[in-house]
Amino acid sequence: MRSLEPALLVDRDGTLNVDLNYLDDADRLEIFRGVGAALRLARAHGFRIICVTNQSGIARGLYTHEQVAQIHARLNHRLAAEGAGIDAFYYCPHRPEDRCPCRKPGTGLLEQALRDHHLDPHRSAMVGDRVLDVIAGESLGLVTGFVSGGPRAEERQRELRSSDHHPDVAADTFLQVVLRLLARG
Ligand SMILES: [Mg+2]
Ligand SMILES: [Zn+2]
Repeated sequence: MRSLEPALLVDRDGTLNVDLNYLDDADRLEIFRGVGAALRLARAHGFRIICVTNQSGIARGLYTHEQVAQIHARLNHRLAAEGAGIDAFYYCPHRPEDRCPCRKPGTGLLEQALRDHHLDPHRSAMVGDRVLDVIAGESLGLVTGFVSGGPRAEERQRELRSSDHHPDVAADTFLQVVLRLLARG
């Protein structure tokens, strides 16, 4: 039997790239500085890198599955130039009112990823910029990381403060969060 591997589960918008609300065009993709380095380091430490992202823009008719696939291909193309990459993408195409099990803070996407890739939840972490990312991670007993800086810092921090949820690690940038997670061992 294959042994279980650790994973870094990462949100997309606001975590890896600038959150444009409904990003529909790969040409508008803007990756935050340090993301490539962070992912490269995590991989060097043996982590699989899995992106888990809510993309309700699909159900809202704002963009298509194909456009999402193009954005993910572009993201990996850009990361490859920095020796980094994302091993798999999981996204929820539904709206909140669809009450699906996959939209974060639901755990459907994360559970699917853990199963598909034989990942060890006890050695895996979920990193995002929203409380819903923290909730999804902690619901499965994962270590949680919160990116508290960036263009929407105030809004995101207010959201976190007004919740009852406390990420294990919080820092301004994705790179800082990943460095702290790796330092925890
Ligand atoms: Mg986000
Ligand atoms: Zn869903």
